[in-house]
Amino acid sequence: MTTATNLLDFDLEGLAAFCERLGEKRFRATQLFRWIHQRGASDFTQMTDLAKSLRGKLAGVAQVQGLPVITQHISADGTIKWLFDVGDGNAVEAVFIPEDDRGTLCVSSQAGCAVGCRFCSTGHQGFSRNLSTGEIVAQLWFAEHFLRKHLGRDERIISNVVMMGMGEPLQNYAALVPALRTMLDDNAYGLSRRRVTVSTSGVVPMIDRLAQDCPVAMAVSLHAPNDPLRDDLVPLNRKYPIAELLAACKRYLDHAPRDFITFEYCMLDGVNDSDAHAQQLIDLVRSQGVSCKFNLIPFNPFPASGLLRSPAPRVQAFARTLADAGIVTTVRKTRGDDIDAACGQLAGDVKDRTRAADRMAQRRTVMMQRAGAPAARPAMTQEH
Ligand code: SAH
Ligand code: SF4
Repeated sequence: MTTATNLLDFDLEGLAAFCERLGEKRFRATQLFRWIHQRGASDFTQMTDLAKSLRGKLAGVAQVQGLPVITQHISADGTIKWLFDVGDGNAVEAVFIPEDDRGTLCVSSQAGCAVGCRFCSTGHQGFSRNLSTGEIVAQLWFAEHFLRKHLGRDERIISNVVMMGMGEPLQNYAALVPALRTMLDDNAYGLSRRRVTVSTSGVVPMIDRLAQDCPVAMAVSLHAPNDPLRDDLVPLNRKYPIAELLAACKRYLDHAPRDFITFEYCMLDGVNDSDAHAQQLIDLVRSQGVSCKFNLIPFNPFPASGLLRSPAPRVQAFARTLADAGIVTTVRKTRGDDIDAACGQLAGDVKDRTRAADRMAQRRTVMMQRAGAPAARPAMTQEH
């Protein structure tokens, strides 16, 4: 119906250019940006310190368009999951995980995912489409301002963002970068580069580009210590094998705000979780000389995967082997269990919302587990 430009699609530079096209001074964009992101405003008439002429022009051509919320689940531990409608029967999820010293939002970058990892239900659903910058930012915009109202606090609630929701962020690079810039901008969310994490299955050329365009903390989904196994689990490995990926990680560290890469490793029973695998991992990171930490993720099973979660003692033993070799290793803990909503598992089809809700109730949380111990966690201590 409307062709109005969504201002959530712009980082500050983009908004300044938009204001210029309207015949306005660039600095007006900063005021507008603050109203939208810092104060959560979407109604131009509220923006009382903006020139009336600008407000009038904006009303005709622009809007601040968030995403409709399909469902919201609040867990007893404070974890909140939202399912957002992105149209055409697609939905994406965002999860807020409160902790004592931070609030983390896990954000989606695509509806579905084209990488097709064996252990990931988003991957099993296939790819629907890239999210726009506005749709990525809308998750943070909504969550931050909802939380301020919900918690009755007038200060920033979300301190960390992890791009660990649905989708491969580095396969949606053009939309991702302005979204990251908005997260980092002091006139918007003002997040530290160290507290914004891009998680990738290993899109090597885009790791290099991100280092130049917008370096933030990096998590790499490794999941296997050798190419044959990783080819099978993460099909993108056939294009960008482990040696190339680790070389890209090393290059990235020259620009990164943190001095290590977080390797995510999903623990799959009898597949990648033996002592021999742990030893191979140690040899691998030593031989490549990548400064890293490991985050072991207990697999969140779903029937179509045909895979099982490694038993807890196996995960612990694996973690100990890595730690004994001097590699900082954490095991991700589950959050929001009681709302057991199928994060990352619904997105394919919300045309039939009743069925979607049923499925949601049945399936286990993926994204909360992914986000339960944010990849940024190990380095937090460095910040205090
Ligand atoms: N596409 C990006 C980011 C989204 S996935 C990536 O792959 O890194 C975020 C994390 O969740 C990844 O480490 C992914 O491997 C993990 N993950 C996916 N499915 C999972 C499952 N069923 N159980 C546990 N972790 C899973
Ligand atoms: Fe895509 Fe990440 Fe899932 Fe792999 S793990 S299919 S890259 S979302």
